[in-house]
Amino acid sequence: MAENLLVSTQAVIKEALFRLGYDEAMYELLKEPIRMLKVRIPVKMDDGTTKVFTGYRAQHSDAVGPTKGGIRFHPNVTEDEVKALSMWMTLKCGIVDLPYGGGKGGIVCDPRQMSMGELERLSRGYVRAISQIVGPTKDIPAPDVFTNAQIMAWMMDEYSRIDEFNSPGFITGKPIVLGGSQGRDRATAEGVTIVIQEAAKKRGIDIKNARVVIQGFGNAGGFLAKFMSDLGAKVIGISDAYGALYDPEGLDIDYLLDRRDSFGTVTTLFENTITNKELLELDCDILVPAAIENQITAENAPNIKAKIVVEAANGPTTAEATKILTERGILLVPDVLASAGGVTVSYFEWVQNNQGYYWSAEEVKEKLRERMVKAFENVYQTAENRNVDMRLAAYMVGVRRTAEACRFRGWV
Ligand code: GLU
Repeated sequence: MAENLLVSTQAVIKEALFRLGYDEAMYELLKEPIRMLKVRIPVKMDDGTTKVFTGYRAQHSDAVGPTKGGIRFHPNVTEDEVKALSMWMTLKCGIVDLPYGGGKGGIVCDPRQMSMGELERLSRGYVRAISQIVGPTKDIPAPDVFTNAQIMAWMMDEYSRIDEFNSPGFITGKPIVLGGSQGRDRATAEGVTIVIQEAAKKRGIDIKNARVVIQGFGNAGGFLAKFMSDLGAKVIGISDAYGALYDPEGLDIDYLLDRRDSFGTVTTLFENTITNKELLELDCDILVPAAIENQITAENAPNIKAKIVVEAANGPTTAEATKILTERGILLVPDVLASAGGVTVSYFEWVQNNQGYYWSAEEVKEKLRERMVKAFENVYQTAENRNVDMRLAAYMVGVRRTAEACRFRGWV
């Protein structure tokens, strides 16, 4: 059975807080979001019927600043998952030092089965339903699984009507013409690329000619495959929800990116595919799960052959698997560190919206690199100094600032 993400996240948060010297009361405050809204959204479908969707918005902690995090459209969204994801956003923001706490939203739906009109009405309905608790200084949403710049644009437009202002700072990940930032679309993959470079240095792996396997070919996985092959690495395996492609000589990434659909599907065009399970166990140097949760488990962790595993997805490795990989000497770069590039450039976008002054792509890239390199080093050193695995180290770095803020505010 799939690991409950909320339960496993709570266990690591607890351990991190106790190691930092905080007591049970601090854990009681931080073990769940401070606010969790569940909404029902009626949507007129194209066939004239009305369908009612369930949505959530979780706000983990606003001790440091407004809450921040994406909105996921997926049939498997659950309340516990959204809660856990909001907690991971607190950790990410702490790790890259952004003045935010974590938030997250989700709608139980399958956007692959919906028309553009239905998606627009759903997006607008969701914003109306959560409008009381969000806003540019309260809680700032962004894209996540199966949501994109167009959906952010509809949501921003809807919020601007409610707010009666043009409110670009309400949401990040917008199209550039509506106040989006240069480089936001590729930011998660850029961040992952930077931590891969740092991790490779630690393990003496030369990126040039390194064999890379990437699970997932959506926003993060697709851009990452491109960046890795541009750096001279050999991307020997990629996958989508339906299967995986493998070529020991390296896949033609430009060709595959050209052929994939807007949900990152490409393997259905090929006959010679392998399974996602086989993909994860391929002989390679760097493995990047960039798809969904619970992919590396106690079952397949003993068979992973990569020297470095970098989690571009949220929660792809279970707690047991983390232990197995670490014991086997595999360097695991956890999600809350590896995938923090997205929210970092979201922060840059929000800052630019607030200033009404926009930065160049080079400026964004440079500022992102600076934060990611510092974050990686901080987590790596914490792991070494405290003799803990990289995940626990990342949680310690990530939760520290929020706990301190709670204490200074006199909450605990
Ligand atoms: N959904 C992304 C994440 O999980 C980005 C969140 C944001 O940009 O606020 O990190």
